[in-house]
Amino acid sequence: MSSSATGGHRLNGRVAIVGASLAGLRAAEALRHKGFRGKLTLIGDESYEPYDRPPLSKQVLTGYALAGQTALPRLRPLDAEWRLGAAAVGLDPTRQRVHLADGHEVGFDRLLIATGVRARPWANQAEAALDGVCVLRTRDHAARLRQYLAAKPQRVLIIGAGFIGCEIASACRELGLPVTVVDRGGAPLENALGGAIGAWAATLQRQHGVDLRCGVTVTELAGDGSGRLRRAHLSDGTVLDIDVAVAALGSIRNTEWLHDSGLAADSAWGVTCDTHCRVFDLNGVVTEHIFAAGDVARFPHPRYDFEFLAVEHWSNAVTQAEVAAHNIICAPSRRRPHLAVPTFWSAQFGTNIKSVGVARFADEVVITQGSVDEHRFIAAYGRRGRLVAAVTVNQGMWLEFFERLIADSAPFPPPAPGFDQPAGVRPIPAGFRNPGVPPHEPGAIGYAPSERRAVFAPPGKYRNEFREIPPRRCQVNTQ
Ligand SMILES: Cc1cc2nc3c(=O)[nH]c(=O)nc-3n(C[C@H](O)[C@H](O)[C@H](O)COP(=O)(O)OP(=O)(O)OC[C@H]3O[C@@H](n4cnc5c(N)ncnc54)[C@H](O)[C@@H]3O)c2cc1C
Repeated sequence: MSSSATGGHRLNGRVAIVGASLAGLRAAEALRHKGFRGKLTLIGDESYEPYDRPPLSKQVLTGYALAGQTALPRLRPLDAEWRLGAAAVGLDPTRQRVHLADGHEVGFDRLLIATGVRARPWANQAEAALDGVCVLRTRDHAARLRQYLAAKPQRVLIIGAGFIGCEIASACRELGLPVTVVDRGGAPLENALGGAIGAWAATLQRQHGVDLRCGVTVTELAGDGSGRLRRAHLSDGTVLDIDVAVAALGSIRNTEWLHDSGLAADSAWGVTCDTHCRVFDLNGVVTEHIFAAGDVARFPHPRYDFEFLAVEHWSNAVTQAEVAAHNIICAPSRRRPHLAVPTFWSAQFGTNIKSVGVARFADEVVITQGSVDEHRFIAAYGRRGRLVAAVTVNQGMWLEFFERLIADSAPFPPPAPGFDQPAGVRPIPAGFRNPGVPPHEPGAIGYAPSERRAVFAPPGKYRNEFREIPPRRCQVNTQ
């Protein structure tokens, strides 16, 4: 690509990318594709070259692929310096340096933060350390869980019925393993798709032999004398005999290394940026040389009343990385906003679930096509008379159609497709619990009047006030 396409700007110099996974790799490739000729450094704390995570909860668990066979395809040569197995532990935005755990520093002119998220572990550390207790985020996690499943455990317990938990349960059933799914909410996928569609997901799981228990929590994981997991105690008094438990409790954003950087970064929110992917500092002032993309980023979306979205999905990581790469090297007047309507897919229990838009934003849902009983339908989501999302179940070919309607701010209920329409359906409440409240406890920002700047509050200082006034913040993923 010619330099005029980027405004003839900033094609040299040093770009550092922290986080060498999907968003980091795709941004690096886009930079080279757009003509960046300068020094490119990718820093990643994992020792592996970038790999794909979606197969980890699907093909890897069922044994169709090995964890080591999930490398991301390379779209073009990079000519980059790779610093793998090197965690970033600090950032000095003024001196423009990233500090690494091994004591080295990497200088940059422009920086992309793409450090993603990690799995939220089981909170009790002694119980989490029992042989048989797992999480799933990385290639190593998947290899370990696959080993446990291949040993044919008597029962697997999944704690949390978000997308990851449901996909693991599906893999267990495909392997013929007895599995119990426990979720404190009312239905599987409820946080992401609402209680109405969650009720369908519950039926699907039970039809596939999952022992699904909603409205209960796990109070204790208990081991034997050798430290092997043996039992789970539930809040309703039930005791389950199990040998494997997977904590599928959502994620924590990898932002600790930014703690003293003065950037608006927190493990609950992620890294806050504008639609140009430029990161805000703590005072809400946008930086010119630090960008963010992928699961770690949180950005305002005009289609969703400019609410800040944290979208932990594959396609967002790719599109946001590409926009960030463009904006990193183009002239300021040529910058592009990241405005893509979020999409994701999931495969579980023989169904293909796809989504476009932000269902979590909706107050109502209606089935526009197909049959819920046959696990073949489209659910359209609306908010105050406007279409905001659609979820397709084994009807993925309709996704683009609904994406266009959402982009055009179509009314809700959307225009009837004219065929395959179920009789007598009306919009019903989408069934999101407490939609304005983020699922994780947010951090707190204070204000230092004497210095006229914002500061992170010391632990506990502002927490009570903050809880009473939950900000309207939209969390898209609930994996
Ligand atoms: C099991 C599983 C299944 C999934 N299935 C689907 C699916 O079916 N559909 C879908 O849409 N999405 C799915 N996703 C989500 C999708 O994989 C993510 O959205 C995507 O990986 C995000 O890419 P990312 O590069 O932003 O973050 P990540 O992939 O999390 O990469 C961030 C990288 O930065 C590294 N890092 C973190 N901190 C530091 C540091 N301080 N220094 C250096 N490096 C650091 C991390 O170790 C990691 O390698 C799935 C995710 C998982 C875990």
